Amino acid sequence: MSRFLSPRFAGLEAYTPGEQPQDQQYVKLNTNESPYPPSPEVLERISAAETGRLNLYPDPTGRVLKEKLAALYGVEPENVFLSNGSDDILNFSFMAFCDAERGAAFPEISYGFYPVYADLYHVPCIQMPLKEDFSVDYRDYCGIGKMVVIANPNAPTGMEISISEIEEILRSNPQNVVLIDEAYVDFGGTSCVELTKQYDNLLVVQTFSKSRSLAGARLGFAIADKGLIADLEKIKYSTNPYNINRLTLAAGEAAIESDAYYRKNAAKIAKTRELTASRLRKLGFIVLPSVANFIFVKSDALAGETVYQELKKKGVLVRHFGKQKIKDFVRITIGTPEQMDILLEKLAEILKGQKGA
Ligand SMILES: *Cc1c(COP(=O)(O)O)cnc(C)c1O
Repeated sequence: MSRFLSPRFAGLEAYTPGEQPQDQQYVKLNTNESPYPPSPEVLERISAAETGRLNLYPDPTGRVLKEKLAALYGVEPENVFLSNGSDDILNFSFMAFCDAERGAAFPEISYGFYPVYADLYHVPCIQMPLKEDFSVDYRDYCGIGKMVVIANPNAPTGMEISISEIEEILRSNPQNVVLIDEAYVDFGGTSCVELTKQYDNLLVVQTFSKSRSLAGARLGFAIADKGLIADLEKIKYSTNPYNINRLTLAAGEAAIESDAYYRKNAAKIAKTRELTASRLRKLGFIVLPSVANFIFVKSDALAGETVYQELKKKGVLVRHFGKQKIKDFVRITIGTPEQMDILLEKLAEILKGQKGA
């Protein structure tokens, strides 16, 4: 126990990010990054000219990027909030919209950061079990009277709930924020951004980390009624007004200008996902239906932990979660078709070795 850390954090269990090994070149399919590089426009925009201005603070309002995002999503700039990765917005939301009296509710199997934030701010939370088929039961959240946080599509399953189900949750919780985390929506999911015009309690959170190939730049955004956005701005200006650096702002602007490039990549990834899922099923794997850039799979022949370990030995990284209800599964990020060929080849080898043993 640290002599210096406040006792209020003594029990805090920090989030464990996926491995980012620096030692060896893996086929990296463990943290849902895009296998494709940022667009040429992004590379050009953060070149010498912008780097040469690093002596100056960035625009704390992010005006240009907000205008571009607003135009792309059909909202006004005051409906847009920018952040240092979408984790920042999750953090701010737990800080701003919950407390000891007003708790939070989210699925038991979902993004592992939600319970950490709840813990950090001493927010009582309810973690709802998924249905038998691993889908979220929206009825669990109707009229619950707490902040609701749902990743849609959910992670690590890749499954989504419908817009009308989200609307039911919104309608029945008018006094609470409903945060829909759309980190993976661009790979075939349906966004509920339009509902922000009707429901002032809806906060839609998205990120440049997955479909826009900018995980390393740290850029997230939220779309909501301007009241909620103003609340988030208040928190931001009370912590770190310059939370998005100059290079990242420039990269984000260029990324929105090259939207077509990213949409093409997302479509490519969705196609690779379907092909990979069907090849895995042929190998005997059970694959949950995913609309995200990853698939959640299990084998009857191999434990999830074994699949993870054996693949790692062969230079392929996937993600395994220790939680009892999903310990048979591994989550595999969809990479390039070439990376998927390597994955399938290694999995076939592992299965063969297993039979021979
Ligand atoms: C990756 C991810 C995030 C965080 O993304 P950043 O913008 O990189 O912070 C948020 N929510 C979910 C569900 C994610 O998978």
